[in-house]
Amino acid sequence: MTTLDELRDWHRGLRAQFPIITGNPEQAYLDSAATSQKPRAVLETVQRYLTTGNANAGRGTYTWANATTALVERTRTRVARFLGDPAPQQHSGVHFVSGATEGLRAVALDWLPRHLRDGDEIIVPFADHQANALPWLEAQRLLARQGVRITVHELPYDPASHDYDHHALAELVTGRTAFVAATHVHHVYGGDMNVHRIRAAVGPGVPICLDAAQSVGHLPVDVAALDVDFVVFSGHKAMALPGTGAVWARNTRGPAFAPGGWSGTPNTSGIAGLEAALDWLDAAGPERIRRWNTALAARLTDGLRTLEPYEVLGCQSSLAADSAVQQREGIVTFRHRGIGSNDLGFVLASHGLMVRCDGHCQARAGESESSVRVSLHVYNSPEEVDLLLSVLRSL
Ligand code: PMP
Repeated sequence: MTTLDELRDWHRGLRAQFPIITGNPEQAYLDSAATSQKPRAVLETVQRYLTTGNANAGRGTYTWANATTALVERTRTRVARFLGDPAPQQHSGVHFVSGATEGLRAVALDWLPRHLRDGDEIIVPFADHQANALPWLEAQRLLARQGVRITVHELPYDPASHDYDHHALAELVTGRTAFVAATHVHHVYGGDMNVHRIRAAVGPGVPICLDAAQSVGHLPVDVAALDVDFVVFSGHKAMALPGTGAVWARNTRGPAFAPGGWSGTPNTSGIAGLEAALDWLDAAGPERIRRWNTALAARLTDGLRTLEPYEVLGCQSSLAADSAVQQREGIVTFRHRGIGSNDLGFVLASHGLMVRCDGHCQARAGESESSVRVSLHVYNSPEEVDLLLSVLRSL
């Protein structure tokens, strides 16, 4: 019995909970790396919050305001618990942001300048999403204006395995290495970047900031096991509303993360939805979600590899291949050797197949040509993958 057969009933039960999916049977949403669809539980929670208890947080003398304050504080702990923090709030903290971009910028522009000293070195990824590259360069410029010079090294990326090159990384580390930024799951190549090997390569003392935009909600993310110092994610890619996300900070290596001075009104309805989304994901089971998405991605990569004109980017492993090197999660990016990616995108859209076609916001060491990205989530079905393959075969 294959993984997809084994999880079929479970998947059907979950898929039925997405009104936008069940309401559009002729469409296949294959762009969840950009943003996820929302289960009914999240939509209803937000509606209930806005129709029964909407108020601002932190300043109230009345029930709705107090309940909103409690909601915001409770959801901080909920995020920490979702990320496997064994002792939420002992040292650690959770800060709400609009998405991973804002979260990574807050670490770069608020925390990093307080942590770094003249002559320090940082190691950051340039083959990853620009949201995890540009802010670190911005921090370097900011510090330079204050007379603090830091060196920025590229986190070595191995184009053969599509993982970071952990040996080259270990060789880059010096007594002045003060910070490393990395990505959990690559947003173009779909590989799980083996974060535990980064910690092994850099040693126990260096703070690591993890861009978990493509892993939270897709697989278990456990801060205790990963031993990272920041986890930054987009709630809107994890079943919550647009404009939601969070930064979890361990706060034991370097100064405490407390950005922003005086904070204004939080995104209260978004936070209500985020709490519901994390409850929903925990009930669905992050490990089962991972198995489903990985199996769908394997079906797609295996199918594409039988179609001569297509080239799959990134790690070539499917479920059958050696996953000790690189595990592909639910993202598959490819090109047609003769048809441009945007043309391919229009053809696929005319069949109701919603994919992403462009350069995918990769930072400066990225692909020079655009490609088609298919990103899967638990509401996607094997039939949708098969329809995509049959349309691609017909071209
Ligand atoms: N990092 C990665 C790996 C991403 O895939 C994305 C979104 N495509 C981001 C950061 C930015 O996330 P957001 O758009 O929510 O700010």
